[in-house]
Amino acid sequence: MKRKAVFPGSFDPITIGHYSIVERALPMFDEIVVAIGENTSKKFMFSLEQRIEHLKQAFGHFSKVSIMSYSGLTIDFCRKINAPYILRGLRNPNDFEYERAIAQINKSMAPEIETFFLVTEPKYTAINSTIVRDILLHGGNAQDFLPERVKIN
Ligand code: ADP
Repeated sequence: MKRKAVFPGSFDPITIGHYSIVERALPMFDEIVVAIGENTSKKFMFSLEQRIEHLKQAFGHFSKVSIMSYSGLTIDFCRKINAPYILRGLRNPNDFEYERAIAQINKSMAPEIETFFLVTEPKYTAINSTIVRDILLHGGNAQDFLPERVKIN
């Protein structure tokens, strides 16, 4: 079977931390689908269309990366597109506890799907989308925290 992984998230917006996880995981997979999970109860700074555009800017040059969006459970989306792997990043103990619970519940609901974790590079540990949004909201320059090809003003 094709080694196809889903990297799910909100990507509001994508940061250099997300980008680094995908770039490092590429040698391990035949294809990585960066997938925006649509969550109607969450308020986003960027529309789905804008977030897709940022992802295209970031990953357009990688032939093994595709961009999609989905609603509903991540495991259902993985089954729909025949992706047996989920990729996630770990920054700190909070991420670990949160991700462990999700991965274990996903495993019990979909035993055929495995979750893979990459520990973030130390220089990206402090970066998250919330901080980037705050910088942008207050007119700051967030470029250092975004993938090089992503332009947000
Ligand atoms: P969610 O809305 O599910 O929290 P995010 O878009 O914030 O999604 O993140 C998606 C994935 O990227 C998660 O696995 C998260 O741990 C990981 N991630 C986010 N920021 C970083 C970072 N700076 N370094 C490594 N992984 C990260």
